[in-house]
Amino acid sequence: SKWVYRFGGGEAEGRATDSVRLGGKGANLAEMAALGLPVPPGLTIVTDACTHYFENGRQLPDGLQSQVLDGIAAMEELTGRVFGGKSKPLLLSVRSGGRASMPGMMDTVLNLGLNDDTVQALGHDAGDARFAWDSYRRFIQMYGDVVMGLDHEVFEEILEDEKARLGHEYDTDLSAVEWQHVVTLYKQVIEEELEEVFPQDPHVQLWGAISAVFSSWMNPRAKTYRTLHRIPEEWGTAVNVQAMVFGNLGSTSATGVAFTRNPSTGEKALYGEFLVNAQGEDVVAGIRTPQSITEEGRLASGSEKPSMEKLMPEAFAEFKAICERLEKHYCDMQDMEFTIERGKLWMLQTRCGKRTTRAALKIAVDMVEEGLITEEEAVSRIEPPSLDQLLHPTIDPQVERQVLGSGLPASPGAATGEIVFTSEEAVAAEAEGRKVILVRIETSPEDIHGMHAAEAILTTRGGMTSHAAVVARGMGIPCVVGAGSMRVDARNEVLIGSGGVSLRRGEVITVDGSSGHVLKGAVPMMQPELSGDFGKLMQWADRNRRMTVRTNADTPQDARAARSFGAEGIGLCRTEHMFFEGERIHVMREMILAEDEQGRREALAKLLPMQRSDFTELFSIMHGLPVTIRLLDPPLHEFLPKTETEIADVAKAMGMPPAFLARRIDAIHEFNPMLGHRGCRLAISYPEIAEMQARAIFEAAVAAAKETGEPVELEILVPLVSLRTELDYVKGVIDQVAADVAAETGTSINYLAGTMIELPRAAIRAHVIAETADFFSFGTNDLTQTTFGMSRDDAAAFIPTYQRKGIIEHDPFISLDFDGVGELIQIAAERGRCTRNDLKLGICGEHGGDPASIWFCEDAGLDYVSCSPFRVPIARLAAAQAAI
Ligand code: ADP
Ligand code: MG
Ligand code: MG
Repeated sequence: SKWVYRFGGGEAEGRATDSVRLGGKGANLAEMAALGLPVPPGLTIVTDACTHYFENGRQLPDGLQSQVLDGIAAMEELTGRVFGGKSKPLLLSVRSGGRASMPGMMDTVLNLGLNDDTVQALGHDAGDARFAWDSYRRFIQMYGDVVMGLDHEVFEEILEDEKARLGHEYDTDLSAVEWQHVVTLYKQVIEEELEEVFPQDPHVQLWGAISAVFSSWMNPRAKTYRTLHRIPEEWGTAVNVQAMVFGNLGSTSATGVAFTRNPSTGEKALYGEFLVNAQGEDVVAGIRTPQSITEEGRLASGSEKPSMEKLMPEAFAEFKAICERLEKHYCDMQDMEFTIERGKLWMLQTRCGKRTTRAALKIAVDMVEEGLITEEEAVSRIEPPSLDQLLHPTIDPQVERQVLGSGLPASPGAATGEIVFTSEEAVAAEAEGRKVILVRIETSPEDIHGMHAAEAILTTRGGMTSHAAVVARGMGIPCVVGAGSMRVDARNEVLIGSGGVSLRRGEVITVDGSSGHVLKGAVPMMQPELSGDFGKLMQWADRNRRMTVRTNADTPQDARAARSFGAEGIGLCRTEHMFFEGERIHVMREMILAEDEQGRREALAKLLPMQRSDFTELFSIMHGLPVTIRLLDPPLHEFLPKTETEIADVAKAMGMPPAFLARRIDAIHEFNPMLGHRGCRLAISYPEIAEMQARAIFEAAVAAAKETGEPVELEILVPLVSLRTELDYVKGVIDQVAADVAAETGTSINYLAGTMIELPRAAIRAHVIAETADFFSFGTNDLTQTTFGMSRDDAAAFIPTYQRKGIIEHDPFISLDFDGVGELIQIAAERGRCTRNDLKLGICGEHGGDPASIWFCEDAGLDYVSCSPFRVPIARLAAAQAAI
């Protein structure tokens, strides 16, 4: 079989499209060689050879050796040099390069083939002994480190000592003789430390380096990286063996790295750095300060040191032309490595460059305008989750982070404020105009106010779907949850960081909900910029989208934010959140604790106008767009007072003895409230609650239609249905109220009545439920918890363990479990549409904002996804990508 692909001399056996076998670096070297660009000749050993190596007890495959030697013979011919030759020696670089670039893999070994003889020949040929000894010491250092396993610091120490002894500042100050001495010291330290001599035979060196590249595929760092980034072990790495060119051959030689466009701003301008008389990664190693490639870049940086454009105008002109050519060829911004040997330019690498989100947007938009790519391609190039960076303030990446602790990055963006430990304090502080961070062990619905008032939220317990996380994402405020290494000592009002630092109430911290970090003090931030590029790209995304994107919004504030992000309606309005506002909680408690229907109705009558005004406002913000309102869902005890003082306060307000109230609260207690008296079960036990809500909805719809002239597209959602008869009953209540309101106002409102599909039984019986339901909304948070039988409030305790042990890959509460929960969705969609082929289908769980889950929804034929306001742009983009 063919293990080796050659390139060089204007030809190549491989192409950029062969990266599966040649790895990214090898494939692009082949492509550049085939384009006729100046690439030193070389060969690529395919990734299959790596796989073979591990499947056969670390044996190199038969035939590999002769193919490599043939390839080297071809390099010898092209360069007029001889590998191991005592005159004109050919030196090689050995470079690893998998399909995906991967830290943890073996570093490049340069100048391979040097030994005590060839070093003389190299110096003689070049007429520069200093260069030859410099190359040799570099080789011993790299080989000693990456192949033989002696820590590179050992070598660095020796060099530092020598420089100090000789009184030199820079490596370039050392003479030939001085480098020769360093070489002796390097060889000595290898013998002393490893009890092994540095190999003099170039072939031994070569196979040592090739095996080391393969072996590095299985080193612990590479393995960890693969697990984290889900890179399969079977991929293996390729090895590139290439003729050396020398950037360290004096003042007309150099080495550098460049981007065809600015990777942080996206500006269309060549951007890069180089170093004269240097080799390999000197540029990035920070040994000397690199110089700018372009004159413009030099001026911008205010550097005195001449640019490559000035210093080496011919090489620069050629390089610039190559950059333009590569960009046109790949239709993307390129990140390149090059070397100039005595004025002659050589290309050593090209790849599509990494960039910030801002740059990615600008580059994609510019390239469409330049005619390089289509709108669809531009849309496909942006990673949807990366848009988060644009929608929230972010911590300036330049600044150093003083991390106090970290947790899960539950809601992106960063904010700074004083620590407060209670919601009341947060509210009070906001009233005084102070910025605060609400720090709690966990949050509950009662904290809504405090959460609204805070700049950010930090909890030490809970997972990505805990109350704090869900609410914060909905509000678009930064949030870190489950910071288990930190501790809240509520009694003494201190937050204790991972390192044991205590922070008192009022001390300033910064919470970074994008990374999960909690930082000490205030930190410089970058403000969001929804600039023209963002708008343009989103417009193109919208043109390519099939599903609509709605938002989960409970408050006018959420609804407005979502509209500004392009939401096309509300997919879920959770009415319960409205009952925590201001005085309402008291009325709500009155209703719940009332002794009979009469008492409940009296309290409900007080809630009606409040609910009506909520809905009127939402409808007018949504101005004719669809709005889905869910009837009361949570177990009632969530609204009840908990502490003794709270109970006393409520008892006083309700004019009943505290002990009596405590007994009523006890009676409402449930063992497993999430599976208890909630959802449609409440509407069935207490139809007066559903009646009040339906009345508020219809009266508001009438009012909004009058006000805006555009009737809202109304959808009423009945939660937690598992039986059609449940839905029949609740729908009966809704229909009756609709008829009553129509009769009273003379305006009849069109509406759909549908149900959440959030219980496995409902999914399975979807064809029957669809006889009553006008639409289904997949409530995937509950559907996940009920399908797995895993409480989403408690799952954070074991999901990470499951992931670490390889039992599950993703947290199913974050990214939809396609196999199980997903199949239930497919079943429900199919069966539901059998009964009613125009059945409207949407998703309103947290997954509605997760790109992978959105792809699934596209395939399942859903009509819309609904997500928290700040995820709306992400969902618009992901839905477009799924449809393209
Ligand atoms: P990485 O994957 O870390 O970028 P590379 O294989 O690209 O590693 O090698 C790092 C550097 O080594 C290159 O940027 C280049 O400066 C130098 N290098 C690699 N191959 C050669 C070569 N054939 N001639 C000269 N320098 C080389
Ligand atoms: Mg490297
Ligand atoms: Mg490189």
